[in-house]
Amino acid sequence: MSVLLIFPGRDPKVWVNAIKKEQPNVKLYVYPEEHNPQEITYAVTWKHPKGMFNKYSNLEVIASIGAGVDHIICDPEIPKNALITRIIDEQLTKDMSTFVLALVLDKIRNISLHHSEKIWDPQAYHTVDEENIGIMGLGVLGKSAALTLSKNGFKVSGWSKTQKQIDGVSTYHGERGLNDFLKNTSILICLLPLTSVTENILNKELFEKLPKGAYLINIARGEHLVEHDLLEMLDTGQLSGASLDVFRTEPLPEEHPFWKHPKVHISPHIASVTDPKKVAHQLMENYMRLRNNEPLRNVVDLKNEY
Ligand code: NDP
Repeated sequence: MSVLLIFPGRDPKVWVNAIKKEQPNVKLYVYPEEHNPQEITYAVTWKHPKGMFNKYSNLEVIASIGAGVDHIICDPEIPKNALITRIIDEQLTKDMSTFVLALVLDKIRNISLHHSEKIWDPQAYHTVDEENIGIMGLGVLGKSAALTLSKNGFKVSGWSKTQKQIDGVSTYHGERGLNDFLKNTSILICLLPLTSVTENILNKELFEKLPKGAYLINIARGEHLVEHDLLEMLDTGQLSGASLDVFRTEPLPEEHPFWKHPKVHISPHIASVTDPKKVAHQLMENYMRLRNNEPLRNVVDLKNEY
């Protein structure tokens, strides 16, 4: 019952140290170092090479080191019986909420605008109670962001698949609720998981249902956004701007039009980053649960894809 860490292109040292500190006796391999695939029951991964799990016939769990599991389930060759788990972490959640708050305040108070445009002329700003923030996705991260914004005086609404009740937040759900959710939203925030249903959901048809001049914040996944639709909507003025933290291709290629677009604000997928020291405990708790035949925590429902 060994553990395999798979983080192509990343330094695995911090993960090895954090896991060893938590569970000194665990037998741990770091891909692609030499190991016997039959020995591995528990894989901890971020963007594993697709198809690699074919050789791991005793694999029981594939644990994502992030909140999302799209990077795992996009591999059609993951073992049918393996459980997929994800991270739910207080720090990760807080970091996402404060990042969202920072982006929204930056937008309405023109904080970076004066510098990026090199203008001293103070631009009129919006106050918090003038904005209607709409959050797509009211899961762990979306709900926390909604509550943070609401506590800071924003009018907040949210949209999810199933019905929700959140104090201080107007909630909508399902396809039927989408139009009503969008029609008053001045700042749209995407915190949906990437699934076959939500892929390309941020498209022209959806943007046209927002009030003219609405602003987009995408901090979920690049594949939610139809990039050329965003560019068109910025050109027509239907959208006044966008803050993007995630992209179809990461790192965002140097020649990508978003880099030079005056209405696009870019950050390099930093909205919330998993801290190995904070999550090693839950990864090893699940490993011990697996060993002891106990139910695992934070298991993803593969039917939902999230
Ligand atoms: P959750 O699984 O907790 O929540 C997902 C939410 O989306 C739920 O409210 C769910 O509805 C809703 N949803 C899913 N599908 C649909 C649909 N078809 N229509 C309407 N609503 C839908 O996810 P988290 O909040 O933990 O994370 C969200 C995403 O954030 C992650 O998947 C990841 O991609 C991204 N992320 C980005 C980071 C960054 O640094 N940029 C960092 C961490 C995460 P319901 O509640 O009804 O099921």
